[in-house]
Amino acid sequence: MHNKTMRVHSDDVTRATKEALVRRGVTLEDIAEIVYAMQSPYNEGLTMQHCVSSVDRVLNKREVQHAVLVGIELDELAEKKMLSAPLQQIIESDEGLFGVDETIALGSVFTYGSIAVTTYGHLDKQKVGIINQLDTVPGDHVHTFLDDLVGSIAACAASRIAHRWRDLEEMGQTFAAVDPVSFGKKVKKLAEI
Ligand code: MG
Repeated sequence: MHNKTMRVHSDDVTRATKEALVRRGVTLEDIAEIVYAMQSPYNEGLTMQHCVSSVDRVLNKREVQHAVLVGIELDELAEKKMLSAPLQQIIESDEGLFGVDETIALGSVFTYGSIAVTTYGHLDKQKVGIINQLDTVPGDHVHTFLDDLVGSIAACAASRIAHRWRDLEEMGQTFAAVDPVSFGKKVKKLAEI
């Protein structure tokens, strides 16, 4: 059923996405730290602020927002034991062969190309930074989807940096020449200039 009057404004979806991450204990800075750890050895002049801006930009993408909202909703419902059997047990126990958590997270990575896909695979295995904390957190928390989602956001933000680096290299510049704030903004299309 398509009903334009029921359509949610993009700003509301963006806000809900960021709030959902913070509610689950993940800040933009936490994700940016993963990005910085992966990209700073290869990108002269790259700062944490560039990485925070890159993460922020990724969180404005609808594919990413929808994946985050679906995954976190399922984690939270599982935590409240509100899912039906046997899905409740499968998600709650982070069943190794489940795989839907990885698939949803991977789906949102494709927008950022092959570098994002391979980086996502690397993070899934190495569990850098807060991904490892989410994976090993004690207590009744369910982070079955969240750890993969954080990996996908970090992978997308890292891919943006790798692509920008090539542009900078061709112009004989480094990230020192890039304003960290505008790096988080959408690049205007020619028609808009
Ligand atoms: Mg998982």
